Amino acid sequence: MKITIIGAGPGGYEAAIMAAKLGAEVTIVEKKEVGGTCLNIGCIPTKALLASSDVLTTSLEADKFGVFNDHTTADLKQMIERKDKVISGLVKGIEFLFESNGVNLVRGTGKLIDSKTVEVQLNDGRVETLVSDKILLATGSVPVCPEMFHYDAIKNDEIKDPGKRVITSTEALALTTPPKSMIVVGGGVIGCELGQFFSRMGAQITIVEMADQILSSEDEDVAKQLLRQFKREKIKVLTASGVADVKVQDSGVVVTLANGKTLEAEMMLLSIGRTSYSKGLSLETVGIKIDPQGHIEVDDNLETSVKGIYAVGDLINTPFLAHVASKEGIIAAENMMGKAKIGLHKAIPRCVYTDPQVAAVGITESEAQQRGIPYKTGSYDFRALGKAQIIGKIQGQVKIIVDDKDVIIGASIVGPEATDLLAEVTMAVHLGLTAEMLGDVIHPHPTLSEAIMEALHDVHGKSINK
Ligand code: FAD
Repeated sequence: MKITIIGAGPGGYEAAIMAAKLGAEVTIVEKKEVGGTCLNIGCIPTKALLASSDVLTTSLEADKFGVFNDHTTADLKQMIERKDKVISGLVKGIEFLFESNGVNLVRGTGKLIDSKTVEVQLNDGRVETLVSDKILLATGSVPVCPEMFHYDAIKNDEIKDPGKRVITSTEALALTTPPKSMIVVGGGVIGCELGQFFSRMGAQITIVEMADQILSSEDEDVAKQLLRQFKREKIKVLTASGVADVKVQDSGVVVTLANGKTLEAEMMLLSIGRTSYSKGLSLETVGIKIDPQGHIEVDDNLETSVKGIYAVGDLINTPFLAHVASKEGIIAAENMMGKAKIGLHKAIPRCVYTDPQVAAVGITESEAQQRGIPYKTGSYDFRALGKAQIIGKIQGQVKIIVDDKDVIIGASIVGPEATDLLAEVTMAVHLGLTAEMLGDVIHPHPTLSEAIMEALHDVHGKSINK
C-alpha cells in the first residue's frame, strides 16, 4: 500500500509513522519544518516560554520558602533562544522517527492532481509527482485575521514580518523585547496564555473579549478564578466588548470598542481563532467537499467525499487541538490500511497553561443546565489540600459533574498542575466510570490528585476533608 500525506504537523506525522508501522510505503510532504503549528509556532513554543515565566515567578517568590535570591531578572531574548533549542531538538526527533520507520520526507508544497496523484513543488525548485493508493490531507490551520484589524503581515498565507504593530501568536513567539503595552483581542486559550506571559515580562496587558467571560466555553467558576489572578497581576480584562475600529499609527495601535471607549497600546495581539488551511491543495480539482466554514467534510472514518482521500486535524470540523489531530492521524492511518475505526470525540481534554492552569473534559455545569441534563456536582478547593499547602499553590478547585446514574460526564479543574491532573478524569469520562468507582481508587498522599478524590467523594456528600 502506497500512502502520500500532505502536511507534517501532529496529524500528518503521527499518521505517517503509524501507517509505516502497519506496513505501508509512506511519503510525507512538508513545506516548512516537520512538527507543524504545534511544534514550531504553537503548543511547544508557548509552553516553553511559559515554563520560563514560571521559573521567574517561582524565583520572585522564593523568599516565602526560605530561599533568598536578590538578583532575579528576566531576559526575553534568552527565553526565546531556549524555546528555539527545545523546538529544534524535537524537530530532529521527528526527522529521526521518519528515518527509523522508513518514512520518505519530501520537502515542498503539495497539491492534488487527481484522487491518486499529488504534485509537489519542491523547496529546491524542482517538481515531483507522487502516485499512491491513498492520500491523507493534514495541512492544518492559520490565524483568523479580518481586514479591519490591519494585520498586514500575511503575504500568500505565509506569516512573516515580526515586529509589526498588529501581530498574531506566530510573531508574538518571536519577539525578543516585550512591548510596553499590548491589547490582546480575544480572551480564549492563546490570548490568556500569551497575555499573562507578556504581562509577566513587564507589558501592560488589556484583554478584550466579546463573550461575557474569558475562556468563554469553560466553567464560569473556573473563568472567575483565572480572572481573579489576572486582576492580581494587573492584567485588565474587558468582557462583553466587541472591537469596532482599529487604527495603526507609528506610535502604536488605537482600538475603538463597540461602546465607544478607546484603548491605546504599543502592539495588538490578534487571537480570535484559527481557520482551516486548504488553500493551494486544489480540492476543487478532485471534488472534495468543504463546509461553509471552510473545514473539509469527512465521514466517521475520516474519509473525505472522495474515496481514498482522508483528512484530519485542524483541516476538519473537530476541536483544533494537537492531541485531536494526532489521534485522528492514527485513526486515519489505520483506516487507510483497511480498518474501519471511528474518531472518538467524547472525552477530549481541553487545557490552558496559564497560572493557575485550567483543564476540562466532557461537559461543563452550564452546558448540563442548558441541555436539561439531570446532574450533580462535587467539588474540592486546593486550599484545603496538604500538597497544595506544601508547594504554596492553594488557588483553585476541582469540580466533577455526574449524571443521574453517577456516571462522570464532565470535570473542570483550575489550579496547580491541572493539565496533568485532568488525565485521570479524562480516562473516567472515556470509559464511562462512575464517581463511586473512581472515588474508590486509592490516591497517593500527599499529592494534588487527592483533590480529585475528595471532589468525587463530595458528589455523594462524603468528602472527609471538606
Ligand atoms: P498543523 O500542525 O497546522 O500542521 C500542518 C502542516 O502542514 C504545517 O507544517 C504546514 O507547513 C504544512 N502544510 C500546509 N500546506 C501544505 C502543503 N500544501 N504542502 C506541504 N505542507 C503543507 N493544541 C494543543 O493541543 N495544546 C496546546 O497547548 C496548543 N497550543 C497552541 C498554541 C498556539 C499559539 C497555537 C497557534 C496553536 C496551539 N494548539 C495547541 C493547536 C495545535 O497547534 C493544532 O491544533 C495542531 O498543530 C493541528 O495539527 P495539524 O496536524 O492538523 O496541523
